Amino acid sequence: MPTIAMKFGGTSVADIERIRHVAGLVKAEVERGNKVAVVVSAMSGETNKLVAWTNDAAKSSANTGIPDQREYDVVVAAGEQITAGLLAITLNAMGVKARSWLGWQVPIDTSAVHGSARIEAMPAAGMKRAIESGEVAVVAGFQGVAPGARISTLGRGGSDTSAVAVAAGIGAVRCDIYTDVDGVYTTDPRIVPKARRLEKIAYEEMLEMASLGAKVLQTRSVEIAMLHRVPVRVLSTFTPDVGGTLLCDEEDIVEKKPVTGIAYSRDEAKITLHKVPDKPGVASAIFSPLADAGVNVDMIVQNVSEDGNTTDLTFTCTRGELNRALAAIETHAKDIGYRDVTHTADVAKVSIIGIGMRAHPGVAQTMFRTLSEKGINIQVISTSEIKVSVLIAEEYVELAVRALHSAYELDAA
Ligand code: ASP
Ligand code: MG
Repeated sequence: MPTIAMKFGGTSVADIERIRHVAGLVKAEVERGNKVAVVVSAMSGETNKLVAWTNDAAKSSANTGIPDQREYDVVVAAGEQITAGLLAITLNAMGVKARSWLGWQVPIDTSAVHGSARIEAMPAAGMKRAIESGEVAVVAGFQGVAPGARISTLGRGGSDTSAVAVAAGIGAVRCDIYTDVDGVYTTDPRIVPKARRLEKIAYEEMLEMASLGAKVLQTRSVEIAMLHRVPVRVLSTFTPDVGGTLLCDEEDIVEKKPVTGIAYSRDEAKITLHKVPDKPGVASAIFSPLADAGVNVDMIVQNVSEDGNTTDLTFTCTRGELNRALAAIETHAKDIGYRDVTHTADVAKVSIIGIGMRAHPGVAQTMFRTLSEKGINIQVISTSEIKVSVLIAEEYVELAVRALHSAYELDAA
């Protein structure tokens, strides 16, 4: 009998009625002769509420208001504990044998980076035996156990990662991610009503889509799927028969268009250092304090020096990291030796993604031409083998995404 993993997101388990609907989908898989592990998120809105509570609790005149991350994890992991128990109760009430498994019970061993821990191992012998015996395993997503037997969480959206890791760990033949959309689209349908659902997308493309702003799957879940070659399907809890999107190997995609999808992210900030000395060691002087401050630098551009002595250097990071980045730069102003620093958060990143890009020349040029025709200025460009990203003024994001969607012939007929 094949084993399958199913995952249900927050809107799919938002109340008892929906949990009953989910239990029905699980029951149907069991009746089809499958052994099943189900991974659940917290009810929608729950995790946000828990996060807000931790922030409130940490506020006092004596401290900065940042909660201890180990206790933060204890609190925010609670949402998934509730849905796992409720789904197990519902399944049993429907005559389907089931039990809940919390992260520490599986166990899902993680790193000690509380708040965004990485899964390191998943022994799961007991859970595998239970599944083998025909019992449905209902796993609390998002949570694990860190060294020292402390509760950990995998970062926001982390129950996708739990699901793919569970699928890989139990040798599931596939991992079905049930959510509130019926698959992965060529771009955000809220911006482009003519966006199309993709039947298939290569792991590499999905990885870029997720890390460049598409919100369907947590990036880490795609990495694990790619590493372990887990076939992942994204489909709707409410219209599961529509077909969804399959994440698969590149070789399984026959028609490779130059561009498969367009992603965007408004969570961007830009910092420019003016008149930094143009000499060896300067990039290191700038980026090591940033790394020490935990800032993830994304795009970087350094201009040629006009006078042979100094140049400008621009980089981007997330908006949440902007203040930390500025503080790190200003603290090390002497070592770096710039004249002044400017910054803005009114920027956004738009990216075109496609494995077909490798074989089609001129793909980037179409992007630049399309943006210029709309009068949109490109501030920074970065490329990889299968993507081109540009930084533009935030006010033009929707215009840019729509124009590019048409230019690459992605619009639905
Ligand atoms: N409940 C967690 C969150 O809201 C994890 C998840 O839903 O994937 O981020
Ligand atoms: Mg999610």
